[in-house]
Amino acid sequence: MSNTDFVLAIEDLTVSFDGFKAVDALTMYIDKNELRVVIGPNGAGKTTVLDLICGKTKSTSGTIKFKNKELTKLPEHEIVRAGVGRKFQTPSIYENLTVYQNLEVSYPVGRSVWGSLTFKRTTALQKQVYKIAAEVLLTEHLQMEAALLSHGQKQWLEIGMLLMQDPELLMLDEPVAGMSAKERDQTAELLNRICKNRSVLVIEHDMEFVKKIAHKVTVLHQGKILAEGSMEKVQADEKVIEVYLGH
Ligand code: ADP
Ligand code: MG
Repeated sequence: MSNTDFVLAIEDLTVSFDGFKAVDALTMYIDKNELRVVIGPNGAGKTTVLDLICGKTKSTSGTIKFKNKELTKLPEHEIVRAGVGRKFQTPSIYENLTVYQNLEVSYPVGRSVWGSLTFKRTTALQKQVYKIAAEVLLTEHLQMEAALLSHGQKQWLEIGMLLMQDPELLMLDEPVAGMSAKERDQTAELLNRICKNRSVLVIEHDMEFVKKIAHKVTVLHQGKILAEGSMEKVQADEKVIEVYLGH
């Protein structure tokens, strides 16, 4: 396809594992500043879509354009450098470092032309740490060892670590799994804030949570799109009720 205004344009994307198509001719477009949620039964191919976008899994065919740049042939680190951040289901934070240090080590190397530890870089880094800590509700815990955070706070910290790189597309796989009701509400507010200046792609099962965040919902089933649109539209779709929401 020719140049597009979509941040992410996935077309005819297929990956087959020994003949089994986990993602099957998927076409999906995500707008600038859009928060998209992907739902669907277990094994639908949701996580595999994220694996394909971030380069962890290589596609069999199809294209993934991020700001008109083809990602399918790029190694993972170049996809990160292009501006795609991805959070896995289990948080990967440094338990024995403080919250501050976890955010600090996530600041991109070589962001400044001045090299590593100049005054300029240090100041920019500190500013970014405080800004992100506030965004992920961890200002009060900056000096706390990460191991002592609650499960929900650890998830927020990992989101914060991704935000330190200022990605234009942030992808989160089941971010509220295991969180308390209050933490889920806070996470919904957090995501609504951070999608103001980036696109966010979330996989989630908790429909109450999905309702609070989704601009649009894509329902995946057997590697294909079963339905797509507003939450109301998708919830009323008979095919969606049959294969997913009815259970
Ligand atoms: P979901 O996240 O929607 O629950 P997944 O994307 O994890 O589903 O998996 C979709 C299907 O693809 C499953 O049947 C899974 O076993 C299969 N699958 C995923 N990754 C691989 C892989 N690397 N090798 C073989 N099969 C895989
Ligand atoms: Mg999954």
